[in-house]
Amino acid sequence: MQQPKDPRKTILIFSAAALIFMMVMNLFVMPMITQPTTVTYNEFLTMVEEGKVSRVALDGTGTAIEFLATDDKGRKMVCTTGAMNDPDLVQTLQQAKTADGEPVDFYKEPLTQQSSMLSFLLSWILPIGLMVGAGFLLMRMMQKKMGGNAMSFGKSNAKVYVQAQTGITFADVAGQDEAKEALAEIVDFLHSPDKYRSVGAVMPKGALLVGPPGTGKTLLAKAVAGEAGVPFFSIAGSEFVEMFVGMGAARVRDLFKQANEKAPCIVFIDEIDTIGKSRDGAGAMGGNDEREQTLNQLLTEMDGFDGSRGVIILAATNRPETLDKALLRPGRFDRRIPVELPDLEGREAILKVHARKIMLDEKVDLLAIARATSGTSGAELANIINEAALRAVKCNRRIVNQSDLEEAVEVIIAGYQRKGKVISPKEKQIVAYHEIGHALVAARQSHSAPVAKITIVPRTSGALGYTMQVPEEETNLLTREEAFNKIVTYTGGRAAEELIFGTFTSGASNDIEQATRLARGMVTRLGMSEEFDMMALETMTNQYLGGDASLTCSADTAARIDAEVLSLIKKAHQKASDILQKDQDLLHRLAAFLLERETITGEEFMEIVRQSDGEA
Ligand code: ADP
Ligand code: MG
Ligand code: ZN
Repeated sequence: MQQPKDPRKTILIFSAAALIFMMVMNLFVMPMITQPTTVTYNEFLTMVEEGKVSRVALDGTGTAIEFLATDDKGRKMVCTTGAMNDPDLVQTLQQAKTADGEPVDFYKEPLTQQSSMLSFLLSWILPIGLMVGAGFLLMRMMQKKMGGNAMSFGKSNAKVYVQAQTGITFADVAGQDEAKEALAEIVDFLHSPDKYRSVGAVMPKGALLVGPPGTGKTLLAKAVAGEAGVPFFSIAGSEFVEMFVGMGAARVRDLFKQANEKAPCIVFIDEIDTIGKSRDGAGAMGGNDEREQTLNQLLTEMDGFDGSRGVIILAATNRPETLDKALLRPGRFDRRIPVELPDLEGREAILKVHARKIMLDEKVDLLAIARATSGTSGAELANIINEAALRAVKCNRRIVNQSDLEEAVEVIIAGYQRKGKVISPKEKQIVAYHEIGHALVAARQSHSAPVAKITIVPRTSGALGYTMQVPEEETNLLTREEAFNKIVTYTGGRAAEELIFGTFTSGASNDIEQATRLARGMVTRLGMSEEFDMMALETMTNQYLGGDASLTCSADTAARIDAEVLSLIKKAHQKASDILQKDQDLLHRLAAFLLERETITGEEFMEIVRQSDGEA
């Protein structure tokens, strides 16, 4: 696409052209029109006699005579001559005839005044006209550039998507059956509003899609438009709070005006949290009047329009807890549609949807990939498929195979392999023992998930090694024992380092973080500690984005929580050390095997474990 020209450049060129034009006019052209040729008085009389003069201006002051004459080539020119005290002049002029036999006109005002009209036009009106024209042009360009209308602040650029343009249907959204069901009702309403009207049922005005990033909220909204076949107005929350103060509110007004004209239709506000943030507390940070105004306008518009006309407002957010309570009141976004991370079945379905676009090897097992990607979002799964396809291309293959997919999983989940990174043999050894420590501790605890893959090939994410644990089946409930065992597994890496090398490295920082988070959760949120029983000590403030938690207890209790968490972790660490102590021989064997192979599968790992158990 061609870059649009810089509007400032255009106006500069235009004004420069106008200025030059003005100067040229005044210096060269005007004089030619208005500057009279001076002739002598008797030349003038001769010209009158010869019929060359058609008009004469007899200046009342008597200082000069101006006249319009035709030269030999038939061109008209203005001439001037000094006034003589010639009493016969009037008579001469009355008798004189032009070449065509017309009488000569004579006036009392100067001729130049008549032609000055022309000069005025040329030297002033024209350049000013040009300037104004350039100004308008600039305005138009600015508008195009900003997408809005800089002159009339009441207009917006809510994009209109029609069915053909989104082209997305529910078939493109895998999993998310509950969300689809809820949205299907809206689609049905848009298809046959009379069915609902006849019963007197009123559709909810708005539905709010809530869920973590990348789970397909935007995709679902587009699918609704595609299914319903109605116009789809889509705008992101951030676009409201953009340019000029007062713009946001005006945009909301305009968006709803457009929507009302196009009803039935869907208005989709993506990332609504940017405008819909809770209003209280904003003052502490200096406030954001602009955002607040926009929000108020949105609330007003939502109350104002008639829901039965078929305007449905969809919004999406991944921070529902920050939304202003007023937005969630009945009559506004009273319907909440959760769009959660996909489960095993959902992940497989999403992988299948995206695999349609590529050539897959027949032997590819997408279920295995789905199993290995617990906790990933739809967007990440789509990314895995693409990454696998890219790898196939890199290897000059047209067909994507299982190892491409497996590699892609690691790329997305753990970062790219850093083949070039140099690690000393000593470091490599430590990493091997560390990873085997995790794996062995996990394998020795009956409730822990078996290991799928262990690698000491470093990742760009910074991890030097990586143990992939895959639960056999999707679990939603975690028993207290399982939770504790997980902590034990986290501490297994460090425990192995201690046992073998008698010292420890910084390699366990991520383990420490994970173990602490889980232990803390057990105490404060999951009611899994003896000391606090089922007392809630923490509330999640941001359940989808990382999960910030804030304590809801006294400082004294907080100290006791810390003590409880510490004792849990200490217990787990001890347990891991005990397990490894007992299995030291196996630990050496496995570590040596991993060092040699760099990457081993869960099967290979378990084989050695079983072998050693058989020997014992
Ligand atoms: P969100 O708006 O929830 O952050 P998006 O709707 O933008 O997420 O999803 C990003 C991309 O991830 C989509 O374009 C799609 O390719 C993929 N995706 C996410 N969820 C699904 C799903 N359930 N089925 C198929 N593709 C999905
Ligand atoms: Mg989105
Ligand atoms: Zn570790």
